[in-house]
Amino acid sequence: MFTLGLSRDMLYPLLNINTKGYVYMREYQKPQAYYRMLQNWCESKMEEWTPKTIEELFALDVHELGKLADSINRRNGNTVTFVVNRHINYTNICVSRCPLCAFYRNVGDSDAYSMSVDEVLEKVAEAVKMGATELHIVGSLNPEINLEYFERIFGRIKSKFPHVIIKALTATEIQFLSQIEGTSVEEVLSRLKDAGLQAMPGGGAEILDDGIREVICPKKVKAEEWLWIMEIAHSIGIRSNATMLFGHIEKPKHRAVHLYKLWKLQERTGGFVSFIPLLFYLENTELNALGLVEEKTDAVDVLKTIAISRIVLQNFSSIRAYWVALGEKLAQVALNYGANDLDGTLMEERVTHAAGAKTPLMLQINKILGLVKGANKIAAERDTFYNILRRYS
Ligand code: SF4
Repeated sequence: MFTLGLSRDMLYPLLNINTKGYVYMREYQKPQAYYRMLQNWCESKMEEWTPKTIEELFALDVHELGKLADSINRRNGNTVTFVVNRHINYTNICVSRCPLCAFYRNVGDSDAYSMSVDEVLEKVAEAVKMGATELHIVGSLNPEINLEYFERIFGRIKSKFPHVIIKALTATEIQFLSQIEGTSVEEVLSRLKDAGLQAMPGGGAEILDDGIREVICPKKVKAEEWLWIMEIAHSIGIRSNATMLFGHIEKPKHRAVHLYKLWKLQERTGGFVSFIPLLFYLENTELNALGLVEEKTDAVDVLKTIAISRIVLQNFSSIRAYWVALGEKLAQVALNYGANDLDGTLMEERVTHAAGAKTPLMLQINKILGLVKGANKIAAERDTFYNILRRYS
């Protein structure tokens, strides 16, 4: 029997237990009473989540979790936000060669590339022309690209388009820059901030468990390093997102630890803006080639993970349904299972598509508005920091 950690004194009055010890639900207990019990239990845990209590949530019914997660979002209105943004992946050459990744290339591969500063600026200009308020600039670990490259890019963006928000470079890229420059993470972040960096994406978190990381991304920063880099960024005023790559070799207990670590850090810094559960795509990855992951996880697991993220991370202002990975239809369903943001228009996405995503490269605003309306929610355009720029009724 799953007890939600309730004490005997609390639980037994709600249950009938016969002489053989079988437990069955009284009429009044289902499903409303069960839902109320879940709600009360979650509220009582909010101040004291542990990996174990979070893991217990994964054993519960997806619809009950979704209902609770949606009720949390509704406390702040029935709004679903999105941003008009552009992804720019400046290079795909990477020395890390993570088994989870289909995006990276080696030097000399026919489709390996690195953009010049001018090429990045051309894409920025196109994005601004199309109304982008945010630039999402990430790439890979390419030793030929140094800190000055980003200082030049960010400086030129800010002098030409001061109103556009630069969200760039994951904690992994920051740590790599500090290595190749032979300087501290603090110094790298400070220089980038001076050049115009305003926010960081949440990538590179994968699963914050070093046992899992050893298999899926052995050369990347360790779990504690990722958290430490985020803490430094938050301490100097660079806010960030956080991601979780799920649906590969990890188990619910690893997702629970991941959510717990993020919740704890957010309690300390308050610097995270949004949480993005990223569904793992396996095509063209070494994890798939080695037979470690043979299929994508199912929709129930996705919705459950999104709902639990909302329930646990109530100290994050948003939980995102990343439509590129979920597909538009499942992303729309997720809006009633705890997600309150649809990410953005993107304009050009390469990372998830390299691993087999069949979604479009961009979503027009009208399409986003249709998805939100269909989910019976109210759409609002936001900026990177969740300031509302325009409401759609
Ligand atoms: S996940 Fe990132 S660090 Fe790992 S191989 Fe891909 S681009 Fe490189």
